[in-house]
Amino acid sequence: MTSSQLLKVAEEFGSPVYVYDAEKIATQYNRLTNAFKGVKHLKINYAVKALSNISILKFFNTLGSGIDTVSIQEVNLGIAAGFKPEQIIFTPNGVSLSEIEQAAQLGVQINIDNLSILEQFGTNHPDIPVCIRINPHVMAGGNSNISVGHIDSKFGISIHQIPHLLRIVENTKMTINGIHMHTGSDILDIDVFLYASEILFETAKQFNNLEFIDFGSGFKVPYKKGDIETNIEELGQKLTTRFNDFCKNYGKDLTLAFEPGKFLVSEAGTFLTHVNAVKQTTSTVFAQVDSGFNHLIRPMLYGSHHDINNISNPKGRERFYTVVGYICETDTFGNNRRINEINEGDVLAFKNAGAYCFSMASNYNSRYRPAEVLWYNKKTHLIRKRETFDDIIKNQIEVNFSSKKEKELVK
Ligand SMILES: *Cc1c(COP(=O)(O)O)cnc(C)c1O
Repeated sequence: MTSSQLLKVAEEFGSPVYVYDAEKIATQYNRLTNAFKGVKHLKINYAVKALSNISILKFFNTLGSGIDTVSIQEVNLGIAAGFKPEQIIFTPNGVSLSEIEQAAQLGVQINIDNLSILEQFGTNHPDIPVCIRINPHVMAGGNSNISVGHIDSKFGISIHQIPHLLRIVENTKMTINGIHMHTGSDILDIDVFLYASEILFETAKQFNNLEFIDFGSGFKVPYKKGDIETNIEELGQKLTTRFNDFCKNYGKDLTLAFEPGKFLVSEAGTFLTHVNAVKQTTSTVFAQVDSGFNHLIRPMLYGSHHDINNISNPKGRERFYTVVGYICETDTFGNNRRINEINEGDVLAFKNAGAYCFSMASNYNSRYRPAEVLWYNKKTHLIRKRETFDDIIKNQIEVNFSSKKEKELVK
């Protein structure tokens, strides 16, 4: 989308507002499927938690994608968006057996990452095939919060526990139809990914009824000019060869599955804010926008970088600004950024705002969560209304205090 198109969105829908470019989502989806076109059966399951608006899910459905879900609510959202249960994989961590059983009853593919749950599920439902999430203990991912494959991680069943896992499978007579790993977000090194894949292949050999191998996700996208990203095309080439070899030895054409979130939607999203005030202190010039970590928490939660541009004054002289929010806590979006001169009322655009931005938004400070707009077919489509005061108050229950009792309390 161009700056002038974005400015129109801010004008028409107000701010703060999230805008998503459907064409960019489709481009990323096609990049991934093209990179793996040498695989006979490829399945992309979009990770719903990255951006879970129902219109985004419906768009993925039209692209031919499946979905990866981590809660029964995401499963239900997927079904509401028109996905068939067999297009949905449920990959929770630390949820109750009953939540997993609910998903299984709906007919979605279950992915289990805990031996205790596996044993109980297999005992209760030996006829329902399940996928198992393996932890290959490979250190991948951008930082310790999003890197989930290491030895101390709570995710997955350790490769060292495969003998125990096989015993559970044998005793319960359950079927393992898939094997899965997801080592973390922001993987830079393809060789690390391929190394983890080898561990998965090695483990896969021990199961006779596989239908698919799921390599998870963790593809890194660029956040700024010159930033490194996962080379999907190279990964596609290398993993395709290796996967096809494996299938030949295994004696069956398995499905190769991925479940990317960030790769598919991060760059499609832009977050638009207005500048409430430019505040000069003794050492810093702050640009204070009409948002905060209640709407976009990634910079404060794990130091993520979002490029910030002044789309109201793109030709203005560049100056240094620290861009902050209006939350009554430190909520710095970007420190010492070189941005075209900012005037109060200007619109600042935050890039890479498609993944883990709106989906992590909250009502902190009793603020409304932003509106969401989809740019599709060269037109804007409002896909979520900005909240109103009703949304803030609707589930709150008022107690009728008696003034007499109250007086006693303050005595
Ligand atoms: C979050 C998650 C993903 C998506 O990760 P990205 O880094 O956004 O691609 C994939 N699989 C599982 C199991 C997840 O929890």
